[in-house]
Amino acid sequence: MIIDLLKNQVAIVTGGTRGIGLAIVRKFLEQGATVILFGSRPETADAAVAKLKAENPSFSIFGLAPNLTNSNDVNQAFQDILKQHKKIDILVNNAGISSRDSIYNYDEKDFDQIIDLNVKAVFTCSRAAAPIMKQQGHGCIINTSSMVSIYGQPAGCGYPASKFAVNGLTKSLARELGRDNIRVNAVAPGVISTDMVANLPEEMVQRISSNIPLGRMGTPEDVANVFLFLASELASYVTGAIISVDGATQV
Ligand code: NAD
Repeated sequence: MIIDLLKNQVAIVTGGTRGIGLAIVRKFLEQGATVILFGSRPETADAAVAKLKAENPSFSIFGLAPNLTNSNDVNQAFQDILKQHKKIDILVNNAGISSRDSIYNYDEKDFDQIIDLNVKAVFTCSRAAAPIMKQQGHGCIINTSSMVSIYGQPAGCGYPASKFAVNGLTKSLARELGRDNIRVNAVAPGVISTDMVANLPEEMVQRISSNIPLGRMGTPEDVANVFLFLASELASYVTGAIISVDGATQV
């Protein structure tokens, strides 16, 4: 078993209260990091912190719930974290929502909501983190993309559009921030068994699963393992990469 890959590291994980984000938080904690998870509400952030503390009282875990689409809120949260923990080594931009709405009845507000959380929040959090990471001489940003950023999807066009944009932010920020020793990568999960997938029609999950060469849907831990690799020194020369974790799913 690998241990202490993230010893003395301070990490922020947005959308860390459940699903893939919670698995990333747990993985980072197990490897010695201090983690500040962001939730959509203080109650869900507090509940996730309590759950992790119950699992292991020595976990160094904290929770916050800034509005990720509000720059003032985000900047304040990052400054508070910097004040308390003295540095921010790793930022995981994972919070996200999906959509299956048809273009024929796609509500404009729903489209804006997806772009706001899935794209703008990656921008607001990365913009808050970059100067801190530059100042300390190193940093690592990892974004949660999706396999739909390669294939698109046959409904809910706002979601793949947002993940194509996440890839664009990833590749552009990797080029912009490399000279400041800040690595920027993305992980593109396939179909992973979380609440997000629980909302898909069963027929669709079955159809997708039967086409996965590895013969099963992914688990949040399958995905978290790749975040751990990218966050660690093992990935010291990896930046601008979008790594698929999808069992070779083709849709
Ligand atoms: P989930 O619904 O289980 O978790 C989503 C997380 O985002 C939660 O922690 C939630 O608190 C947070 N969140 C939702 N709305 C928010 C808001 N307005 N403000 C702040 N936080 C908010 O979903 P998941 O499957 O774990 O998805 C996590 C990421 O993985 C997303 O970016 C998603 O697009 C991506 N993804 C998921 C799958 C999958 O199959 N589950 C596949 C590819 C990519």
